[in-house]
Amino acid sequence: MAQTDLRALQDTEFPVPEELQANIAITSLDKIYNWSRRSSMWPLLFGLACCAIEMIGTAASRFDFSRFGFEVMRGSPRQSDLMIVSGTVTKKMIVPIVRLYNQMPEPKYVLAMGACASGGGPFKEGYNVVSGVDKYLPVDVYVPGCPPTPQALLYGMITLQKKIDGQSLANLDDVPWYGVGPSEPTPVPVLGPDIIDPRQMELIREQAQQAALEAPFGARELPAWVNPTEVAQEATAVVETQEGAEDGVDPAKAARIRKREEAMARLAARRAAKGGQ
Ligand code: SF4
Repeated sequence: MAQTDLRALQDTEFPVPEELQANIAITSLDKIYNWSRRSSMWPLLFGLACCAIEMIGTAASRFDFSRFGFEVMRGSPRQSDLMIVSGTVTKKMIVPIVRLYNQMPEPKYVLAMGACASGGGPFKEGYNVVSGVDKYLPVDVYVPGCPPTPQALLYGMITLQKKIDGQSLANLDDVPWYGVGPSEPTPVPVLGPDIIDPRQMELIREQAQQAALEAPFGARELPAWVNPTEVAQEATAVVETQEGAEDGVDPAKAARIRKREEAMARLAARRAAKGGQ
């Protein structure tokens, strides 16, 4: 039976004699937590277009991504922690894709496979195609190519493993699902005559009113969704209020609360900045 190679877990800060390294590992909680997550990723089983054939090839015996811990693909989003977006994302399909993403438990990752998923590919600006799945979902790794080869997909998967290795339990920004609770679900786009992003509903309503009055409505000018400076100021006010209410509270608990508030404020500011682009 194959044995686990403990050398992958060694923390260089605490050297172990070489002859013992196969049997003893001195490591950190971060390292063992990340090692167990990255060594057992379960991709969601779905494909969108020609790239999916390459993804299937990567899973099959010749390339076999199980060797890297990606194991069998899961047929349910509730059992998956990796979404490989393999193919052209049409406006019709982005709706169920976002819904499936919301049904995946945290921590979860997204890999955009190929030119279509990364930026629209040969169909960019097509009337029915989304110019990159990252318009709606947070993508962790992009794999270029049309289609990418199985080797390229494997490289992207290994890159994702390296990203997971770099996450730290001590940094709440790195592990938001752990530090500040479950993330907000991504708004599911609405498919009408065209795709509608509910995050821009206010703007769309405003422009519709302007259009009804036959006034110029600047359809090509998308203002910042939320002003990041205002968000940061609000966050500071929250932290100050927290500090003022700390009298008589356990200092360790107060520090934990403050850290959580700060991380949430940074998260909100980042989201606001992203939404305003
Ligand atoms: S990137 Fe190329 S191979 Fe992949 S789905 Fe688009 S057109 Fe097909």
